[in-house]
Amino acid sequence: MPNILVVKGLTTQFEGEKGPITVVDQIDFKVKKGEVLGLVGESGCGKSVTSLSILQLLDKNGKISGGEVFYNNVNLVSKSEKEMRGIRGKEISMIFQDPMTSLNPVLIIGKQIGEVIEEHEKVSGTVVKQKVVELLKLVGIPRAEEIYYEYPHRLSGGMKQRVMIAMAIACNPAMLIADEPTTALDVTIQAQILDLLRSLKDELDMSILLITHDLGVVAEMCDRVVVMYAGQVVETTDTRTLLRKPRHPYTVGLIQSTPHQSKGERRLKSIIGQVPTPDQFLQGCRFADRCPKAMDICHSTIPPLFELDGQTSCRCWLYDDKKEEVI
Ligand code: SF4
Ligand code: MG
Repeated sequence: MPNILVVKGLTTQFEGEKGPITVVDQIDFKVKKGEVLGLVGESGCGKSVTSLSILQLLDKNGKISGGEVFYNNVNLVSKSEKEMRGIRGKEISMIFQDPMTSLNPVLIIGKQIGEVIEEHEKVSGTVVKQKVVELLKLVGIPRAEEIYYEYPHRLSGGMKQRVMIAMAIACNPAMLIADEPTTALDVTIQAQILDLLRSLKDELDMSILLITHDLGVVAEMCDRVVVMYAGQVVETTDTRTLLRKPRHPYTVGLIQSTPHQSKGERRLKSIIGQVPTPDQFLQGCRFADRCPKAMDICHSTIPPLFELDGQTSCRCWLYDDKKEEVI
């Protein structure tokens, strides 16, 4: 399958008191047409900043300072704000973790979804309304004609997230970026929203970049996975390999701290310590102070991404055949 999105050397910096702070550091990944790629890591690893960079939705004090983002072979980094407005929602859409902060509390649901359509398409009010009702049905909202006139606060969390998804797919985007789309929801609703995303992906022929800290969600949804730690990609592989044979000690830690409900395991090992903030990045491997396998070289020299096979790459000195030479 061809790639729909290619991120190359993407680097994003924020203006700090003592100068620029690099939050996303030369990351590379590809999303193939029709696939769900998971972007995984604890919070603070740079996942959301990566997705905001792709769509150029960074806060004023943030900027892409290097790299490229190709969407269907066109580099988005060189696009103007006006051009990006034509791409957002129409080509690439985004849904966020907390639907309440993204919905306008004083506008009825139907109008909010309609505005997205009106931004990109010149169609009459009647057609817009028809489309909105169809969208509400498509995302599994019952009594769509009535819900059209409701205000957001009258809907449950799951229903609000369905409305957000309706807004995201209103203009038939080829690519959806979903940033922790189920984190704010309880478990049953989470499963329903994931089911909905999966069926919409097939029905509308979309590719999805799914951002999550939850490996259960990855197992359910993703074809391949990119693991991020402290602003860098540390492992890329297919989901099956990631779950069965994780290579990077950070990935191993993430898996050991994920509950296996089917096996009834209760005791979880959490990874000791915390994700460093960019001003705390270590000189060598950024995971070294939390890593049970850390060696001398890890504290002095940052590991490159080692290609392990065509599918898997891993940023860890354990996978360097020529380790001795480097030391
Ligand atoms: Fe651990 Fe060293 Fe690998 Fe970093 S490079 S993950 S410290 S073994
Ligand atoms: Mg985030």
